[in-house]
Amino acid sequence: MPRRRSCRRGRGQLVLCAWLLAPVAAGAQEGPKLFISVDMEGIGGVGTGAMTSSSGKDYGTARRLMTDEINAVVAAIFARGPAQVVVNDSHGDHQNVLHTELDPRVTYIQGAIKPLGMVQGLDASFDGAMFIGYHARAGDPNGFLAHTGTGSVKGLWLNDHEVGEAGMNAAFAGMHGVPVILVSGDSAFVAEAHGFLDAEAVVTKTAVTPSAARLEHPERVRAKLGAAVGTALDRLARGDIRAWSVGAPVRIRMRFDSTTHVEILQSIPGMSKEDGFTAAYTARDADQAYRLIRLMYRFVQE
Ligand SMILES: [Zn+2]
Repeated sequence: MPRRRSCRRGRGQLVLCAWLLAPVAAGAQEGPKLFISVDMEGIGGVGTGAMTSSSGKDYGTARRLMTDEINAVVAAIFARGPAQVVVNDSHGDHQNVLHTELDPRVTYIQGAIKPLGMVQGLDASFDGAMFIGYHARAGDPNGFLAHTGTGSVKGLWLNDHEVGEAGMNAAFAGMHGVPVILVSGDSAFVAEAHGFLDAEAVVTKTAVTPSAARLEHPERVRAKLGAAVGTALDRLARGDIRAWSVGAPVRIRMRFDSTTHVEILQSIPGMSKEDGFTAAYTARDADQAYRLIRLMYRFVQE
């Protein structure tokens, strides 16, 4: 059974977290329960597409950087006291982190065959979520390696909010009442996130072109993340960060680079065509929407 969330915000009032207020209260010894989804394009020190591909030059370096960056975030969390931390590998085949070198205080979810993809493991028992190493949505001209899901997706809308991966993940978290408290990635991604999220944010690089980046040194990125974790946890404890909601039901519109993909998707009952490139479906809520979106772009292929 999921643990009741210890940080709740009542209507018009702030409710402080049990894990801050009462060290001897039940559950207080556990500290906040935090979910970290980690992608690779936005990790500090990753500046080419090749680094993010398992067959590419310097992929091993990118894995090392990803692992070290997570450990910096985790160290900052535990520097403040006890916590429960789940790390979900969220890039490519979801087998990137050098997981035997992760801080042993975390649990780690590996492998991409999972219906909830980048948010697998996240539910209403968590107090907050962090999106680390993220990138901007498909089509952002200022983004580094910007995309949404796969290269075949050209746009995604949830109830008329145009979203990328961070938006779909935040909508899922929000439906379960979980606020996104920290994000990191390239400057275009952070600008995108600030458009709808109230989270602390760390810029790790700036795109020079869509596939080249001016990098901040990874050590500097880790230091900034450590400081941002502290601010994010302070704000979470004050009930000062809102979960993001797209409401319910959720109208999904997904635009593809070919008409064939949209045509194949018509086999799903309830799916319609908004135009030749755009499939549409009304899901009952953000949870159902998320599962279908993942199916649409990842498990249905031309
Ligand atoms: Zn990725």
